[in-house]
Amino acid sequence: MALQRLGVLTSGGDAPGMNAAIRAVVRQAVFMGIEVRGVHKGFQGLVDRDWPALTSRQCANILQRGGTILHTARCQAFLEPAVRAQVAADLRAEGIEALVIIGGDGSFTGADLLHREHGISCAGIPGTIDNDLPGTDRTLGFDTALNTAVEAIDRIRDTASSHERLFLVEVMGRRSGMLAVHTAIACGAEAVLYPESAEDTFEALVNQLRSNWERGKRSSIVVVAEGDQEGGAMKVGERLRSEFGLDLRVVVLGHIQRGGSPTAMDRIWGSRWGVEAVKRLVAGDTAFYLGMDSGRLVSRPLSAIHEPRPEPPRELSELVAVLAR
Ligand code: ATP
Repeated sequence: MALQRLGVLTSGGDAPGMNAAIRAVVRQAVFMGIEVRGVHKGFQGLVDRDWPALTSRQCANILQRGGTILHTARCQAFLEPAVRAQVAADLRAEGIEALVIIGGDGSFTGADLLHREHGISCAGIPGTIDNDLPGTDRTLGFDTALNTAVEAIDRIRDTASSHERLFLVEVMGRRSGMLAVHTAIACGAEAVLYPESAEDTFEALVNQLRSNWERGKRSSIVVVAEGDQEGGAMKVGERLRSEFGLDLRVVVLGHIQRGGSPTAMDRIWGSRWGVEAVKRLVAGDTAFYLGMDSGRLVSRPLSAIHEPRPEPPRELSELVAVLAR
């Protein structure tokens, strides 16, 4: 039987571009004569059966807005098999035959289980500012967060050079250095510290700062991923102060990186993935997530989410030191 009703939800951390994807899902579904339910607060909304109708008009003027109009949450209950069984039964009773899940690897893992255990069709759209999902060069929110971080650091650079000061700037990335490494290149940072780095990052940093000083550089910006092995910018700063007596400033960019109007690229990919998710569900695909590979839109099985996460390309992280000379 043809698909008649689907649900869309956003899960995990919010990311700019999620609204573009929601809008595209709704409008493509309307175009194909399918009713959409907007599930509130991620998987929690499935548990609570909080899934009112979501119309095309409700998606007006959301393309350019950050965050997610459906709200998002982390839902511990969804880790329980019995809860997922109840959710599947409730979805069937409501006639919701398929879901579009916009989120990161945790959300896709939950979607994969819902499909494998109970046969609910699930389409994933990568939505996380971390850009750390296997099988896609891009995730929604990364481009916006990157530009936000770069803009903030450009401002810090002005004061760093005026006062001849060392600044440590912490960017998001608990497990991933993607944002940190790309930010470091785009703002001309003198060094970058991130979780996947193979070397002793603190020792490398000290050597880098020393060599900068010897070459006459009097101000430096160091980008630190929050999940760096040393424990984030505060910890690195404390160590540099106590071991070397350095006068430095620490700035934690924090949540300002998540918010704000999505860049054109995040809007375009949110729109493309939203449309494609609905088309594929209608065509009978049952468990997949979308991505981008070398500029092309691609689809992968949901189970591929368990493959190793991509790391920042080494040739990029190596550029940081070269370009700081
Ligand atoms: P982000 O990258 O922004 O953190 P994410 O999707 O990885 O996004 P998580 O908090 O890891 O965010 O996962 C979101 C939700 O997905 C969880 O709150 C939970 O409801 C569900 N989920 C995560 N892991 C599992 C799992 N192993 N089994 C079932 N559900 C899961």
